[in-house]
Amino acid sequence: MIHELFPESLDIRFQTSAIPCEDDFVFYYQENTLLWKNEDGSLVIPRRSDFPSLPETSEFRFLFSLGNKPCFLLWGKPGETSPDLVFQDLSLFRTHPVQLLAWASMVGYHLQSWYLNHRFCGRCGAPALPMPEERALGCSSCSRVVYPGISPAIIVAVICGDKILLIRGRSGRSWYSLVSGYVDAGETLEQAVAREVKEETGLDVRNIRYYNDQPWPLSGTLMVGFLAEADDRQAIVVDEREISEAAWFTRGSLPEYSPALAISGELIRRFDRNEL
Ligand SMILES: [Zn+2]
Repeated sequence: MIHELFPESLDIRFQTSAIPCEDDFVFYYQENTLLWKNEDGSLVIPRRSDFPSLPETSEFRFLFSLGNKPCFLLWGKPGETSPDLVFQDLSLFRTHPVQLLAWASMVGYHLQSWYLNHRFCGRCGAPALPMPEERALGCSSCSRVVYPGISPAIIVAVICGDKILLIRGRSGRSWYSLVSGYVDAGETLEQAVAREVKEETGLDVRNIRYYNDQPWPLSGTLMVGFLAEADDRQAIVVDEREISEAAWFTRGSLPEYSPALAISGELIRRFDRNEL
């Protein structure tokens, strides 16, 4: 999975009062794009020195460290930049040859989205401002503090002997994936697994076991992977509001499925290789 490729290289620990040096990395997002620098044909993260005429209203917010190099979010306008800076869609992470930068672009996007969506206090409506000593936003009026939002979700490989239950969502993707869904208030992870499988496919599952988990920053999600068993003689009843197809597939003859950089792809691939 993509987040496991560089366990030591992206350090999320917050640095207080960090100010960018000229060669520190700068992440600047616009909607679903990130500003990259075209350096001799390779797309790299720009440095502070690539933003020489920053408006006074712009500021830097510490994101994380990449191999001891501090990385900052540019908040506000970038000012004039050189023509070798180019916006690229966030989906670039799927194909960028340097997967550490791909992963960093996703984590930065999660934090940028959180800042963007919490500019005002949800309780009293006053402006919310970054706090200097921790990664948090504090209300300028009622002192309410908000931390980065992370939504837990489950994803489950439902297995019956040498068959696995695969679904296709309504996103228009060609590949198959696994049943997944957000955990509801007051619900355990195992209860969410049973409920989501029942809701999406009509199947009852048993023997639910934790597999692994994976942060998925693009949606602000922590995906928690499970294995479960179901009797394939049960009737499949698809919830057509959420998915377009659900069916059993036999090991060794699976259709195209999610890429292995995501936990869904790893689960399906390991089932296919008889490793689960
Ligand atoms: Zn407030």
